[in-house]
Amino acid sequence: MVGKSTRSVHEESPEDQKGSVVPPIYETSTFSFPKAEEVPKAVHGESPRYVYTRWDNPTLARLEAKMAAFEGAEAAAFFSSGMAAISTSVLSFVKEGDHVVATRDLYGEAHKLMAEVLPRFGVETSLVDTVDLREMESAVRRSTKVVYIESPANPTLRLVDIRRAAKIAHLRGALLLIDGTFASPINQQPLRLGADVVLHSATKYINGHADVVAGAASGSEEKIAAIKMMRRTLGGSLDPHAAWLVMRGMKTMALRVRAQNENAMALAECLSKHKKVRKVNYPGLKSHPQHSLAMKQMSGFGGVLSFEIEGDARAAARVVNRLRLASIAASLGGVETLVSLPFVLSHHQVSDEEKRRSGIPESLIRVAVGVEDADDLIQDFGRALSST
Ligand SMILES: *Cc1c(COP(=O)(O)O)cnc(C)c1O
Repeated sequence: MVGKSTRSVHEESPEDQKGSVVPPIYETSTFSFPKAEEVPKAVHGESPRYVYTRWDNPTLARLEAKMAAFEGAEAAAFFSSGMAAISTSVLSFVKEGDHVVATRDLYGEAHKLMAEVLPRFGVETSLVDTVDLREMESAVRRSTKVVYIESPANPTLRLVDIRRAAKIAHLRGALLLIDGTFASPINQQPLRLGADVVLHSATKYINGHADVVAGAASGSEEKIAAIKMMRRTLGGSLDPHAAWLVMRGMKTMALRVRAQNENAMALAECLSKHKKVRKVNYPGLKSHPQHSLAMKQMSGFGGVLSFEIEGDARAAARVVNRLRLASIAASLGGVETLVSLPFVLSHHQVSDEEKRRSGIPESLIRVAVGVEDADDLIQDFGRALSST
């Protein structure tokens, strides 16, 4: 098997007869048939013909093959956003009367899906502790169809023991779905640890250039086929042009993520020594309570860290306002460093009480490190902190 950089650059299914080094874009909404008799076979998936781009498209199929190879999966499906990947995948495996167990530290909208949306359709959900999986163990029951986790979690950088969560889910016949966005497929391979479906906001590290919104799900042929059928119905398919951009972004995924791992580590170490910083959350630091788990289940610690400063929300706002290189923006995984205040931005839909319980104090600053020079980033943060 080839390495991650080689896999980033090379296509999985070169099929272009004209010798184009870069794959073509099939910018079409629909596909024609030479004869009416061929339509039923294609509609029933009994021929290799494409029918309609909401169902499938050759550009998308090529991106999906590349993604599957990255995750060590049989198949992958792409979506018009990470949330489309998450909601479509969860809805593929539950019906009224079923039960879902999810960890409490989730991306804001995923939390809303679990806490508010699924219960509206008669799917009961239990939110459990992220770190101590004994709560998960006792929450899983016979009607549990899906165990849903996020690791590392946003924005606390808490980890879920993926291997253990998979065992807990499988013991009761449930599936383990994991949002692995923060790690990217470069730093973590959840399918090898027992997860059934790995989800990503491809908006982040997979595309990597802050210019596309997309999502991905990878897993066995059977699971992805079920998810793709649901994608046809819910309609969150990825546009072929966006799929082509994601494929281009993926070519440098290994390079980018390695640079981000190094920059984040350097910045985390520096911040943890700063007197105005109360706490730094980064799985690569020895001070992270789950550092040994990080060493076991991740091959790199990612480009996101968060830190709590001495003071209140206004003090945190003053720090981010003084940054020159880093911009204040939601999202992560692009080449430029971004900062956000999770208390007011990504978790605005979660109650203040739930946020404090989830380890999101008002003075928390999340940093999504880019590929700038580490020294410049360290200097930018040092200056912003010292002038408060
Ligand atoms: C951004 C993000 C999502 C949602 O993805 P979109 O592409 O914005 O829909 C889900 N999970 C995590 C961890 C994220 O960072």
